[in-house]
Amino acid sequence: MPRQGIIERYRAYLPVTENTPVISLMEGDTPLLPAKNLAKKIGAEAYELYLKFEGMNPTGSFKDRGMTLAVSKAVEKGAKTIICASTGNTSASAAAYAAQAGIRCAVLIPSGNIALGKLSQALMHGATVISVNGNFDDALTLVKEAAEKFPVTLVNSLNPDRIEGQKTGAFEIVDELGEAPDFQFMPVGNAGNITAYWKGYKEYCDRGKCINLPKMMGFQAAGAAPIVSGKPVENPETIATAIRIGNPASWKQAEAAKTESAGVIDSVTDNEILDAYKILAATEGVFCEPASAAGVAGLIKYLKAGKLEKRIAKLRIVCILTGHGLKDPECAIRSIEKPVSIAPSMDALKSVLFASA
Ligand SMILES: *Cc1c(COP(=O)(O)O)cnc(C)c1O
Repeated sequence: MPRQGIIERYRAYLPVTENTPVISLMEGDTPLLPAKNLAKKIGAEAYELYLKFEGMNPTGSFKDRGMTLAVSKAVEKGAKTIICASTGNTSASAAAYAAQAGIRCAVLIPSGNIALGKLSQALMHGATVISVNGNFDDALTLVKEAAEKFPVTLVNSLNPDRIEGQKTGAFEIVDELGEAPDFQFMPVGNAGNITAYWKGYKEYCDRGKCINLPKMMGFQAAGAAPIVSGKPVENPETIATAIRIGNPASWKQAEAAKTESAGVIDSVTDNEILDAYKILAATEGVFCEPASAAGVAGLIKYLKAGKLEKRIAKLRIVCILTGHGLKDPECAIRSIEKPVSIAPSMDALKSVLFASA
């Protein structure tokens, strides 16, 4: 089947009509990779483990699923400008879809805490990029107010069309596995994605596409874990900048997903995140960004603690890898050994290639 993009593929499940202009970059249809090497490495052989690599979306993150719908609906309603606050990926996605739609895009980013790849995308796609001397939460407060006062459409995940588009990730997993997985591990930042996946699984089951619902296993970074601690975090800190959020917009919905699915929302440290990030790249050949590795870090933590239910028939686990590692190459370079440097001689090359391990 030729590529369609999520609006055409899942039209019957989305709030679109024949009058909705479809603004698409052919997002979705991302790989669901069986992860045998990873399972072996982390002691998960008793499970069927998969990675949903959302870094393969057009702008390199799952945000494209929500953005195609949010921008299509905005254009349908006559919007000329969209606006968002962003830790990076939302701005990259909004800027790209606005370019495709031929409308303006303004993005507010926390100064100094955005990965270079993401910033370069927003700039290249022609967005007005505004750096705020504050954190993501400050930027979100500003854009929410701006969207009330001025003729600009908010495309953060507070916009229900974002959630509607993002729920298609759950549809794809069920379509491919023939059933929902038993567990879904994922990072939680502003909590729109966990909200969207849970909505997607529930709707797909209601329409007879699946029978079981997964346990939703969401992970925040320890320095930015308001849902875990039960109160907003004033100065969130983590190397996983995409989830560096102290007061998530979809807090209540994330808690509902956890409770209704008998899942968890827990935290992982930056070291645990970096370990998972490196293991994924080295064992599976999958390079995701640090925030994306938080779900896998959570899986490793739960396996180690013996906290994950096991059955004779292998239970299925899907980890959502939310964004591509090339978004933040600086983080990779900082967290891994530097390349070996040699003189241009065969002896030197030989001594490195055949160094006794
Ligand atoms: C946006 C984002 C997240 C967090 O998703 P929320 O919907 O805000 O919880 C995680 N990882 C990446 C790569 C992201 O871009």
